[in-house]
Amino acid sequence: MQVIKRLPIHLSNQIAAGEVVQRPSSVVKELLENSIDAGATEITVSVRDGGRTLISILDNGTGMNEQDALLCFERHATSKLSSIDDLFQLGTMGFRGEALASIAAVAQVEMKTKTSAATTGFYIRFEGGTLISKEEVICAKGTLIEVKNLFFNIPARRNFLKSDAIEFNHVEDAFLCIALAHPEVSLVLHNNNQPVYNLDASNLKRRISEVLGKGGADKIFPIASETDIVTVHGFLGKPEFAKKTRGNQFFFVNRRFFKSSYYNHAIQTAFEGLIPDKTHPIYFIFFEINPAKIDVNIHPTKTEIKFDEERFIYSILLSTIRQSLGKFNLMPSLDFELETAFDLPSSFRQQPIQEPVIRVDPQFNPFDNEKKSAPKAFSPAIQQEGFGAAPPKESDWKEFYHISEEPSTENPIPDLNTNASIECIQTGKYLVAPVRSGIMLIDLRRALERVLYDESIAAFVKHPLHTQMLLFPMERALEKQEIRVLQSHLGLFEQLGFKLELYESTLAISGAPEILHEEGILGCIESLIVRLEMQDQQREDLAHILMVEMVRSSVKHYPFGNKLEMQQLIEQLFRCQEHHLSPSQEKIITIIRHEDLHQFLR
Ligand code: ADP
Ligand code: MG
Repeated sequence: MQVIKRLPIHLSNQIAAGEVVQRPSSVVKELLENSIDAGATEITVSVRDGGRTLISILDNGTGMNEQDALLCFERHATSKLSSIDDLFQLGTMGFRGEALASIAAVAQVEMKTKTSAATTGFYIRFEGGTLISKEEVICAKGTLIEVKNLFFNIPARRNFLKSDAIEFNHVEDAFLCIALAHPEVSLVLHNNNQPVYNLDASNLKRRISEVLGKGGADKIFPIASETDIVTVHGFLGKPEFAKKTRGNQFFFVNRRFFKSSYYNHAIQTAFEGLIPDKTHPIYFIFFEINPAKIDVNIHPTKTEIKFDEERFIYSILLSTIRQSLGKFNLMPSLDFELETAFDLPSSFRQQPIQEPVIRVDPQFNPFDNEKKSAPKAFSPAIQQEGFGAAPPKESDWKEFYHISEEPSTENPIPDLNTNASIECIQTGKYLVAPVRSGIMLIDLRRALERVLYDESIAAFVKHPLHTQMLLFPMERALEKQEIRVLQSHLGLFEQLGFKLELYESTLAISGAPEILHEEGILGCIESLIVRLEMQDQQREDLAHILMVEMVRSSVKHYPFGNKLEMQQLIEQLFRCQEHHLSPSQEKIITIIRHEDLHQFLR
């Protein structure tokens, strides 16, 4: 009996669609590429509900006649590739002839299109890959494609989609990849009838500035170099604008966006020493290269591209950036010819040089400095109403220590060998105390994180955290993406104790949660936005994530104080249920056992 059957066309198209169309942003990417290939100079993209219910793309490109309009929805139908040699010299974005067939297989698609030669246009409607209707219509030259209810016929794929906000972020990324590579094309993006980008045709620098938002032009500097193998040009963010997010990092090769951790490494290396740890420079870098020297015949949704001479390109990129950093004075350098750099103001020049005097207080002992007032982090913020825990009672932690007659490795409750008080010394980041089985090390920063986290989250679930109003309100310019994230979470920020207002692209901060040090407020808001941008989580997880971030910012600027404060911290730590782990799951306590100590001394 014959068991092999040919798959019906609509089914094989649906399967192929699985590769091309993963989410609304894939549709936006494919349709935008088609419009660019059709020579459009004006393109309008409108999406609804993150693109789930509608993606509409209108262009003023060549359009199609009736035959082409019908053919373009068939698989492997393309006007861009006719021989295998073409594949190695491609100047177009698409070439596989798969996108429209795939999109039509998994959505309801309508198209109106007209060429400049025709007097009337042509309308066509597909549903799940089946032609529903076609007719002549009056329309302008160009093409309008509307993709409705993506995955309407594949519930499993539909359920896989994320929230509208997340899907829209992906749509925006796809839009930007095209907009940055084609500054000569005017491009508009609408989301739920609200304008998001309205980019006039211009040059690369202006386009990048528009994408970066207010003051964008002042944030970047250019790079350019030309060799036989590759031409590199583009713009990078000045070191002071490096961010904690990896946003605004774009590589293009022959105007095609791609991702590369390898070239990203070259950039990070070029900025070494100029930007703080764990921050990332902004970049928009364009490579022009002979298409035969890169592999474009790859999976349609993959954004990695294989380069024949990648090591060479890496070093070209690195040295080009370094040169530009030097040229635009963005690198601290000792210029010995520029004596003025070391010049003293004239009023100082005549004065005799005096040896500096160092005053030392021989009585000073950091551990004797036991202030009468209670330490900051544990009293005003935490002990007042709303921060849950009552002031620590000494008996509590002592009892706690006593339980631990048999030390367990799983949950290292320290077995102190004194029950009078915690005999400890503080060295740098750690607190060191002798315990029965050896020496206990407590990471102070992590301990404080745990204490603050437990107190704050307990209060947060009941009512908004306490706000400390600022004497001098702060301001910060935001990028579009950041504004959107902030706008959709303003309520949450308020609950955390922030008092924020948005004036166009400027954020004004008039109050902040009490646990934050003033210096840490801006950084904390930035980190919170980053976390929200990345979030795929449920709301409950969100509270945890934000609180971890806030507590981390708070601790960063916390002045660890005297011995009394340290003891109070430890008392509070051991009253936390998870006292051995910080909120971000880092180990707080370690015990070096006597046996192991022995080894060190051998
Ligand atoms: P590919 O882009 O790989 O050729 P597609 O399925 O994306 O495959 O498109 C099929 C064909 O439809 C294209 O080759 C092109 O001839 C035509 N086409 C698609 N979109 C447009 C458009 N916006 N304007 C004019 N022609 C288009
Ligand atoms: Mg295409």
